[in-house]
Amino acid sequence: MIALPDPAATEAFGARLASVLRAGDAVALFGDLGAGKTTLTRGLLRGLGFDGDVASPTFPIVQTYEPPDLRLPVWHVDLYRIERESELAELALDDAREFCAMVIEWPERLGSGLWRDALRLTLTAAHEGARALTAQVPPAWETRWPPR
Ligand code: ADP
Ligand code: MG
Repeated sequence: MIALPDPAATEAFGARLASVLRAGDAVALFGDLGAGKTTLTRGLLRGLGFDGDVASPTFPIVQTYEPPDLRLPVWHVDLYRIERESELAELALDDAREFCAMVIEWPERLGSGLWRDALRLTLTAAHEGARALTAQVPPAWETRWPPR
């Protein structure tokens, strides 16, 4: 378990994750509304060199980031509003993964389609604004976990 006492700590963790992130990676962010998924992603994008605004991509569902604005192409995906299997298919996330790093909020919407090699992170509320982060670390991430 990693303690994230405030939003700045959550962003800082995202930036550490950015330092080991590669094209082809998938990061699944589990957690309730307000858990800090977008905050973590903002830190990750900042860590990759992006200095613009980062909001939850509720509409459109995918927000793409491209070099030279940051070190790697990143797809920031929020599946909260996905209702049908056909909408998921249209996103063609499998194809996109080949050339970008994929960060996904509400990955439970993918069901068994969530890639086995995705890094699975769960944010839960702790006392007084703190969050706790737990991870399920697949083999592809073992040498990179925890990021420093
Ligand atoms: P999500 O994307 O999971 O719905 P957001 O990152 O958009 O959540 O929002 C999290 C909210 O909780 C923000 O308003 C943020 O300032 C607040 N917050 C309070 N404590 C923390 C913390 N330790 N880590 C992340 N966010 C926190
Ligand atoms: Mg969000």
